[in-house]
Amino acid sequence: MKIGINCGHTAGGAGYGAVGIISESDHTRLVGRELMRLMQAKGAQVIDCTIDRAGTQNEYLSKVVELANREDLDWFIGIHFNASKAHTGQGAEVYTYKGRQYPDAVSVCKNLENLGFRNRGVKEGTGLYVIRKTKAKSMLIEVCFCDNQQDINIYEAAGGAGGIAEAIFKGMQGYVDATETSMGTGETPIMGTSVASADQLNALLLSGNPQAEDYLHLAEIFLEEGEKEGVRGDGAFCQSLIETGYFKFSGDVKPCQHNYAGIGATGGVPGNSFPDARTGVRAQIQHLKAYASTEPLVQECVDPRYEYVSKGCAPTFEQLAGKWAVPGYSGYASLEAARLANDTYGHKIVKLLEKTIV
Ligand SMILES: [Zn+2]
Repeated sequence: MKIGINCGHTAGGAGYGAVGIISESDHTRLVGRELMRLMQAKGAQVIDCTIDRAGTQNEYLSKVVELANREDLDWFIGIHFNASKAHTGQGAEVYTYKGRQYPDAVSVCKNLENLGFRNRGVKEGTGLYVIRKTKAKSMLIEVCFCDNQQDINIYEAAGGAGGIAEAIFKGMQGYVDATETSMGTGETPIMGTSVASADQLNALLLSGNPQAEDYLHLAEIFLEEGEKEGVRGDGAFCQSLIETGYFKFSGDVKPCQHNYAGIGATGGVPGNSFPDARTGVRAQIQHLKAYASTEPLVQECVDPRYEYVSKGCAPTFEQLAGKWAVPGYSGYASLEAARLANDTYGHKIVKLLEKTIV
């Protein structure tokens, strides 16, 4: 897992940052370097995308993007400080492509708000060159206004650059957990961004059930609900293919229950019912997040069994066997044997996921 960090602006000349009570260029470097240190300590591979000198502002921007796009990054993060004409602007904000409300970006804003800054939220950043041109998922963080005394007071009270880096790092905890989880295991984290598209998921569904026309609207809902909680919606959809037998519903759960993952269903008990498809998918995503992460839900909880899950007990799909699904294997003498054969409940989900993207 790789993360690109850009300490915003050059160190002097063209592309130099705003100068308020503090200098933006100095403090993007202080915050960015501290954030790099924290990320590296957690095992993330950090690519420094900082550029100190450039002939022009445009050259600066294209150099940054060139550094970022040379690597296969999971995240590109730009650190900036804001400024306003009347020096009255206040607070923290994050820019993303099309204003996407990535849980990590929302959480960065929240963590900065917890330090005392006004939370200006996650905003549409498609107009920003580094957001538009970087291939990786990206966020540009405006920590606070460098020309506003109240913001600078909060900045200093929070411990300066160290306190800010810590808050941003905490906001990225979802990413960091996923990094730690998958390191060396080769397993597939449940938390993360979907890779398969709705079309790819539907092609997989139809390959196993050509009569599934009534269920082709679900893939999009899985991707949307997954993104809201930072869960792999494509993986959750593949889980549903297994749980419902490609939406043929031959088990205990009936289609009208909108329960696509057998939540609450155990041998003969039909399990929970949900008022509509979206609520059913949302509950499944939330249930997966409960297994995968210790982070709180972003949306209101609709999963009736959320409280019963030991949070973070199965960060990868492979680890769901014996936990979400019991026993989580069939045709083997033990779970361990099924694991060695890469053929548990979770391995089956991951195999379907791989089918969608080849
Ligand atoms: Zn800036």
